[in-house]
Amino acid sequence: MNKQASTNTQVLICGAGAAGLTLAIDLARRGVAIRLIDKLPAPFAGSRGKGIQPRTLEVLEDLGVIDRLAAVGAPYPVQRLHKADGTFTDSQEVMVSPPTPEEPYRTPLMVPQFRTEAVLRERLAELGGTVEYGRALTGFDQDADGVTATVAGPDGAETIRCGWLVGGDGGRSFVRHVLDIGFPGKTLGVRAVVADIALEGLSRDFWHRCGEGDMDRQIGLCPLPHTDLFQLQAPIPLEGEIDLSVAGLQAFIDDRWTAGRLKVNRVDWASAYSMNARLADRYREGRVLLMGDAAHIHPPTGGQGLNTSLQDAYNLGWKLAAVLQGAPDALIDTYEEERRPIAAGMLGLATGLLEKAKQGEIKRGREVHQLDLGYRFSSLALDAVRPEDLLQPGDRAPDGRLAGAAGGAKRLFDLLAGPHWTLLARAVDPAALPAPRPGLHVHRVGGASGDLRDPDDVLGVTYGLAEGEAVLIRPDGYVAAFPAATDGARLEGYLAEVGLDAPSRAARAA
Ligand SMILES: Cc1cc2nc3c(=O)[nH]c(=O)nc-3n(C[C@H](O)[C@H](O)[C@H](O)COP(=O)(O)OP(=O)(O)OC[C@H]3O[C@@H](n4cnc5c(N)ncnc54)[C@H](O)[C@@H]3O)c2cc1C
Repeated sequence: MNKQASTNTQVLICGAGAAGLTLAIDLARRGVAIRLIDKLPAPFAGSRGKGIQPRTLEVLEDLGVIDRLAAVGAPYPVQRLHKADGTFTDSQEVMVSPPTPEEPYRTPLMVPQFRTEAVLRERLAELGGTVEYGRALTGFDQDADGVTATVAGPDGAETIRCGWLVGGDGGRSFVRHVLDIGFPGKTLGVRAVVADIALEGLSRDFWHRCGEGDMDRQIGLCPLPHTDLFQLQAPIPLEGEIDLSVAGLQAFIDDRWTAGRLKVNRVDWASAYSMNARLADRYREGRVLLMGDAAHIHPPTGGQGLNTSLQDAYNLGWKLAAVLQGAPDALIDTYEEERRPIAAGMLGLATGLLEKAKQGEIKRGREVHQLDLGYRFSSLALDAVRPEDLLQPGDRAPDGRLAGAAGGAKRLFDLLAGPHWTLLARAVDPAALPAPRPGLHVHRVGGASGDLRDPDDVLGVTYGLAEGEAVLIRPDGYVAAFPAATDGARLEGYLAEVGLDAPSRAARAA
């Protein structure tokens, strides 16, 4: 973060969108020296990625911003589908489900992207970080020990020497181009306009749509919470100029809506873009990594792009920090191993939803919530012999209600919150538990000496743990292992791979 001490930069993050900000927060809270640059002169002003999915809400809880985000957001409004004859039907587009102890967030939250990013910047500032706007990455070279980057800023060019460079620089990623990493996929033959406009003539209680099923007539107008704006979204012809001024968008709306009924007063931000589905061939080249839209781009249907980008950063943050603190470099390879298949799945989902949207089908179910995604296939998911219907290594770690031995109510997510790993042991003999070490929290649940009580039997019912069994949970909230008390050596080997071998880490640092 320290401009004067640029040689001390451990990680240079290029791009301060949702992915860049998330990575900056996650690294800053782990004490990593970062710099976060963005070529824009000021924060991005558009609302585009406005759907925050339940799994991302859990991530944002861990990062310490969930309540701030909820305060500037709102539930999705009901859809009002206007028909040509002037009548309308109302329906709920997103699945609305009440929270459960295991899943505290089960409904997407609507927050304009500029607000989400503002909340993340505020959190970063609390951790001592800042975004350096007006600084563009213009080149870089790497060697075995680090990366030398050239950055152009208002005060001229600067050379930054860093340990790692992370490109969170969007769909047209400069970093990806310099690395010459392929970005195969397809242009989807759909072009759209998205704009934030102040508008008169429509209730702010509904997400209004008309022209469904007709790509030449479709238009959506969604009220953005805690603003006087609507987000306009509409398909447009593949070729030709689009007038994004107040007069131009007024004419555009008049053409698709009953002319004269709606009045555009202001356009705060507008863009016309072509939809693509593309996935980078690789996420890593030596000490340079890609994340977010730089690694994958999706159509906006289903609200997956920002969520997937933010969760890329959340997956990468703890691994980068661990390697910087002495963990084996191979840990970084698990980032692509885990996140690239997730992005591939998202591309299929969002593209499928786009096809449905063309026909006027706009309902979204649990498949967009990202709660069921996990990393069972990962090399970080330590094998376990468990019945198929039980939670498995690689699965998302569910929340649950516990109680402290001192009497206070505790959520399981309270125990996971922060940069550490967590071992929850159900009535395990303390002698069989791993030795204390930095970065690992061990809780004994139940039994005579437990620091936690489990009145709802969360570990038994939700986690499928018998007495004498334990679960190891990663810093990003996924189950790593169900270590057997009889196989301490295997657990120690695993902990060493992820940088938690306390004695040898101390030796490396010395
Ligand atoms: C109409 C629309 C609706 C959408 N709706 C949703 C939704 O509901 N939910 C959802 O999850 N997603 C949605 N998305 C997608 C979402 O907006 C993106 O996936 C998200 O912004 C990606 O974040 P990012 O941080 O990877 O990249 P970006 O937000 O693109 O940020 C990249 C940053 O890198 C900077 N940069 C680029 N080059 C350089 C350089 N050389 N040097 C320095 N800085 C550089 C840029 O200035 C930019 O600020 C939508 C997108 C659109 C267009």
